[in-house]
Amino acid sequence: MSAKIISGTHIAKTIREEIAADVVKLKEQSDITPGLVTILVGDDPASKSYVAAKNKTAAALGIYSRQVTLPAETSEEKLLTIVQQYNQDPKIHGILVQLPLPRHINEAKVLFAIDPNKDVDGFHPVNVGKMMLGEPCFLPCTPHGILELLQRTEVETSGAEVVIVGRSNIVGKPVANLMLQKRDSGNATVTLCHTRTRDLQFHTRRADILIVAAGVAQMISGDDVKEGVVVIDVGVNRVGKTKEGKALLVGDVDFDSVSQKAAAITPVPGGVGPMTITMLMKNTLEAARLTV
Ligand code: NDP
Repeated sequence: MSAKIISGTHIAKTIREEIAADVVKLKEQSDITPGLVTILVGDDPASKSYVAAKNKTAAALGIYSRQVTLPAETSEEKLLTIVQQYNQDPKIHGILVQLPLPRHINEAKVLFAIDPNKDVDGFHPVNVGKMMLGEPCFLPCTPHGILELLQRTEVETSGAEVVIVGRSNIVGKPVANLMLQKRDSGNATVTLCHTRTRDLQFHTRRADILIVAAGVAQMISGDDVKEGVVVIDVGVNRVGKTKEGKALLVGDVDFDSVSQKAAAITPVPGGVGPMTITMLMKNTLEAARLTV
């Protein structure tokens, strides 16, 4: 079997066009332009490029964006003050604090300080709790993007054996929760694996839908999956440089061997990555709509 490629790039493009059209509509109907602030502390190159991509995408969709860049030695108190300032700012509907933060800053304290109605990353406990309960809320961007990828490629999750590798708070756990929800995009039977899982291959081989978010380059090979599986590869691993000097990226899945058996698979790059930023834009639009 040769797998169908689930192109996050194409699906994200379609969703971005929908968002751009909705931004225009919101402006016409309510004179509101969605506003996003990104807050970056320090100069980690990967974080810098993520933040730059977020601001660039916002601008391309007609979303007002402001970038705050602070030195690595910024105090927790100062950062909290800045968050409070944007909590009060009527032009800003979404606040994104780029993670990870320097070690001297308590990440949870900063994330909890964001107004839940401006928490477009979906990390505030109010939004996490609402998600658990199946209430309307801001969904975390990567899990939300995965859901959209599955829905828009018409992959049936109801009754499916969904196996997830990785139990982080930003990917694995929320994906598991969303797949469990009693609604059309969920209703799966979910297995969540991690480093203490006794026999990982036993689980991955049972999967109808396999979602891998471990951060281990090409850890899943063709031997680890069954024929006809749908594979979502969340991993982004830098394994060197291209001839042009750009970072060479691979996923957590060995694309060549797995795509021989899978029915469908996301590539890296061009799979989950573009969806994550797109869902951030969607959340920013929703946050602006909340103020109407
Ligand atoms: P974390 O490091 O926070 O979590 C990794 C998880 O994988 C942990 O639960 C860990 O288990 C588990 N794990 C690691 N190695 C193994 C293994 N050999 N077998 C089984 N489980 C394992 O990572 P994140 O969730 O933040 O990110 C995961 C990957 O996804 C990374 O490559 C990251 O760059 C990428 N990512 C991509 C995004 C995108 O938009 N494309 C967005 C977010 C992340 P344990 O809990 O036991 O330690």
